[in-house]
Amino acid sequence: MEPFRSRHQDPRPTTFPAHVAALVALTLTALVGTGCQSEDERLAPADGDPAEGVVAFSAPLLWDGTGAEPISDALLVVREGRVESVGPVDEVEVPPGVQVTSLDGAFVMPGLINGHGHVGGVEGLRSSPELYSEQNILDQLGLYARYGVTTVVSLGGDGPEGVAIRDRQDRPDLDRARLYVAGPVLSPDGPDEAEAEIRRLVELGADWAKIRVDDQLGQARAMDRATYGALIREAEEHGLPLAAHVVRLEDARGLLEEGVALLAHSVRDREVDDGLVQLMREHDVCITPTLTREVSVFVYAERPDFFDDPFFLAEADASVLEGLQDPERQARVAASEAAAYYRSQLPVAMENLRRIHEGGAGVALGTDSGPPARFQGYFEHLEMEMMADAGMSPEAVLRSATGEAARCLGLDGTVGTLTPGAWADFLVLSEDPREDISNTKTLEAVWIAGGEVAR
Ligand SMILES: [Zn+2]
Repeated sequence: MEPFRSRHQDPRPTTFPAHVAALVALTLTALVGTGCQSEDERLAPADGDPAEGVVAFSAPLLWDGTGAEPISDALLVVREGRVESVGPVDEVEVPPGVQVTSLDGAFVMPGLINGHGHVGGVEGLRSSPELYSEQNILDQLGLYARYGVTTVVSLGGDGPEGVAIRDRQDRPDLDRARLYVAGPVLSPDGPDEAEAEIRRLVELGADWAKIRVDDQLGQARAMDRATYGALIREAEEHGLPLAAHVVRLEDARGLLEEGVALLAHSVRDREVDDGLVQLMREHDVCITPTLTREVSVFVYAERPDFFDDPFFLAEADASVLEGLQDPERQARVAASEAAAYYRSQLPVAMENLRRIHEGGAGVALGTDSGPPARFQGYFEHLEMEMMADAGMSPEAVLRSATGEAARCLGLDGTVGTLTPGAWADFLVLSEDPREDISNTKTLEAVWIAGGEVAR
């Protein structure tokens, strides 16, 4: 075979003006689930052609999300939406007839994984059918994708709409973030109800079970250890990992001892001790710090700085921004005891993230983003900046948002790394985020299953 020679072409062969791109996005969204062939499939060569369903990319620098050093002058070959091979240009073969798209950007990396987000409406409140419509969820997954968040684990509030969307995503023409769901947040009255609660989730087809154990600062009944222990065991029997909303160190300890699979928020009441970090390591349990969730509780007492960030404004809904700046609403936030508590405990959460990370336990990016004031897509970038502020190196943050997140969430080999067999979901950045984590905002292009997402 002839040595590979890159045919540099326009990296964005199909760029449209914004209004046309929006129409294209709408049309593509409409096509999802109708069984229509994608454009790529229609243009694919006849049977038997080794180039069929194959696309290839060259990149000056590719970071694969595993923790390995980036590959210079990399070549990435994608077949039917999944990575077939990746490596230095002189070590990777491209099937004859496959054009190579040159990714112009300083840094290519796997798409971001949000290990704790939400889709639909306000978490757990399925009162508005409009918010939980498939179309609205797809729109939100499109928004996540345009910000480079290509996988979202929705930890609670999900119904059959989310399950149906998840069941349609293993396809090479996907143009929005992948979704995994936890179903409704469980709140049984006691251990006796654990079996029925988990059975409902299994029947729904959920990927996760989600519970809250604390009393929500006095607004709810705390879940006792016998009940969450029974839920964890019942979930385990059905192969469902269970994620828990925590605030208190004591609850985190009890959950770990009972076999929880994910701590879905930071411990915020006090600083974690070595014992907790050791329990996390022993049980191989990760945490999604959701620092931006804390911010969202108090920050709208005034106009937040990020309201001036062009990267935020690119997708922000003016009416939502207006609502959040309503003086009466601002006054309510300013007077809220809950807001004051979470504001005062944010430094504790950040110190705990540092201790957990430095102690060698797993951390996965997670934001608790979801409407209306936890901005999907943007908050993941804000969260990564806060993780770095808490003491993680930019590279460690990137791993927590890619390969490490996938490992924490049982998705390794599927997403989070650009390794053979994984979906070819990747980002092109114009600046290297290992130098400054805020460079994740220099997002030039987002590709899902080897296809570019219209932005
Ligand atoms: Zn949540």
